[in-house]
Amino acid sequence: MIPRPLRLPTLVVLAVSSLPSLAQNPADLVVTLQGSDSTMGFSHGNTYPAVALPFAMNAWSPYTQPCKDSFFYQYRQTKLRGLRQTHQPSPWIADYAAFSVMPVSGSLVCDEEARASEFSHEEEIARPYYYKCRMSTWDTTVELAPTERCASFRFTYPEEKDAFVIFDGFPGGSSVEVQPEKSRIVGHVRNNHGGVPENFANHFIIQFDQPFLDQGTWQPGGETNGDLKREADHVGAWVKVKPGTVTFRAVSSYIDLAQAETTLAREIGDKDFDAVRDAAKARWNTLLGRIEIEGGLPDQHRTFYTALYRSTLFPHRLNEIGADGTSRYFSPYDGKVHEGVMFTDSGFWDTFRCVHPLFNILFPELNAQILQGVLAAYEQSGWLPAWASPGHRGCMIGNHAFSLFADAWAKGVRDFDEEKAVAAMLHDSSRQGPIASIGRDGAKSYLEKGYASHPETHESVAKTLEYAYNDYCAMLVAEGVGNQEAAETFRERTKNYTKVWDPEVGFMRGRLANGDWDPGFSPIRWGSPFTEGCSWHYTWSVFHDVAGLIDLMGGDEAFVDKLDGVFQADPEVDTGAYGGVIHEMAEMLAANMGQYAHGNQPIQHMIYLYPYAGQPWKTQARVREVLNRLYFPTPDGLCGDEDNGQTSAWYVFSALGMYPVNPASDEYIIGSPLFDKATIHLPDGKDFVITAKQNGPMRPYIHHATLNGRQYDYAYLTHGRITAGGELVFDMDSSRETVWATHRGARPSSMSTAE
Ligand code: CA
Repeated sequence: MIPRPLRLPTLVVLAVSSLPSLAQNPADLVVTLQGSDSTMGFSHGNTYPAVALPFAMNAWSPYTQPCKDSFFYQYRQTKLRGLRQTHQPSPWIADYAAFSVMPVSGSLVCDEEARASEFSHEEEIARPYYYKCRMSTWDTTVELAPTERCASFRFTYPEEKDAFVIFDGFPGGSSVEVQPEKSRIVGHVRNNHGGVPENFANHFIIQFDQPFLDQGTWQPGGETNGDLKREADHVGAWVKVKPGTVTFRAVSSYIDLAQAETTLAREIGDKDFDAVRDAAKARWNTLLGRIEIEGGLPDQHRTFYTALYRSTLFPHRLNEIGADGTSRYFSPYDGKVHEGVMFTDSGFWDTFRCVHPLFNILFPELNAQILQGVLAAYEQSGWLPAWASPGHRGCMIGNHAFSLFADAWAKGVRDFDEEKAVAAMLHDSSRQGPIASIGRDGAKSYLEKGYASHPETHESVAKTLEYAYNDYCAMLVAEGVGNQEAAETFRERTKNYTKVWDPEVGFMRGRLANGDWDPGFSPIRWGSPFTEGCSWHYTWSVFHDVAGLIDLMGGDEAFVDKLDGVFQADPEVDTGAYGGVIHEMAEMLAANMGQYAHGNQPIQHMIYLYPYAGQPWKTQARVREVLNRLYFPTPDGLCGDEDNGQTSAWYVFSALGMYPVNPASDEYIIGSPLFDKATIHLPDGKDFVITAKQNGPMRPYIHHATLNGRQYDYAYLTHGRITAGGELVFDMDSSRETVWATHRGARPSSMSTAE
């Protein structure tokens, strides 16, 4: 396997600018194209350039591929097929309820292949709040600006040619009606990928500001004519407009067309294009401005704000605001309209790690709303969501809604029904779900033996490890609400990670129903009993009891040797149960950091484990290496699937100088701050400032620290220290000869060492 050449760190730059003028305008530092140079075979992020407000119901994106291709914007392609409303959280989950618009000029061309236009990145402006590109085939410029559920468009056509706007409803059930008397196109699209009730649909309106000169409908392989209505698997509409500048707005609702009308009036009303764009820009500047950074290189600023943008795109909000101001949503679980809030398009297996912890610092009230939605999903479907898009999807493992509850609880975010959460966790942890991703796959074996057995349960070791952590999360919330009986039930399972530890090989290992070890074991063998990884990656998945893991390994020295071993091992893979190279393998090989696979989630916390064994300086050096080696503000600037903000939120936390190894605790493990100064503007108006003196590319080591002026000699920071406001000051050094935070009492807490 020949890995792609790795891009060299761009740190050998003499001029250092702190970008004082741009700091006021972080929205313009975001590179939405980061990660878009990806294909199914190799991911540099697997992202698309989302034009969207934070956590919005709808995102918008140009697309270069046939509409059913999930890898729909590929940076190296040369033609655009339209601007689509998208909800896709990951290409592996695919899009749903999508549609698109596209200009053509001269003659009417509707078919996707025929209408695709040449474009150049030189004539493309891609911002979170604004997208502009010249469709050169049609000599037409498109502009787009988003609201939460709508978008405003401005197409500028050549004056001397006929001008058309093409609407494409995508395959999977679409219906259109052109209403020339109202200058609009209405209808619905579905193109869902499972997990939703029969009556699920995206009801849309495309409202123009000018009358149509002509109009009709079309379908691929069928007629394009003047019929005003059409319904089939895949239909579209077209309108002819006066050439020059054409403006229109798009809105959609999962409830009905009347709600779409209400939303359009609320979110755009009579605002013109520039006003919508400026409002979207202001919204992003407000959000991104919650963290101000100083020092560092311009590209590091771009990378940081791009990471913060990607951390705040998902989950998508599903609730809509009615004419009377009531928040309502169409439930993708029971097909009914409910009052309240609901979110979707997030895989908690990814985002429990540090996306939700980031929300608990920056937007605790949003996290509470997300949890209200999670509990509503449980009521409506009987199961807590794990990977919703928009309903339950069969993807990934674990019961990580438990982590979201415990994370919120530990941070004092309580605006959700904790007792209902405990009841839901008791339910979901004790039975097999209707699909493997919800409930507890392998529950029978896990409850009887303390581990899911191999090979009866697919990916049994990964599941056992994550269930044990999830049970710890459930125990904390149960204790918190005073439900001791439930707490004891969960407590018994929190050490189950020990059941899959094989001291003979020194790794987590698959275990058969009779207690024997998996005879097919190799630490580099991918796939079942592991998930998208091997034992080198999963042996660290004991988030809640690192001290217990250190004991299993035989003490600090052996533990640190094993951590070092991750980087020292050859970057080789045994494709194992996968039977061939999957993209995560290729990305690990390309990163060339031994068995360290930052391009996928299981190992992303591992670098932060050294302080648990008293060697924080190793974390400091490795964090810097990853920050500088695997993240760039470029189309190929990510090293694997970005995954709903998780890989980006890792950068945000790590650049600030900390990371939540155990999201269910209130501790953040201190790493190595990237910038000279970072100011977190907390939701209650206080500031927490992290200053790194004498910082620089070759100075990742912390020599000394003070918190609010007093010496600080701990390898972790608590949530309460941050939310109280204050200043943490580090003295950085080029020498690893440091004793900072190495004493026994400096270590982060673990379940085994908790009093
Ligand atoms: Ca992944």
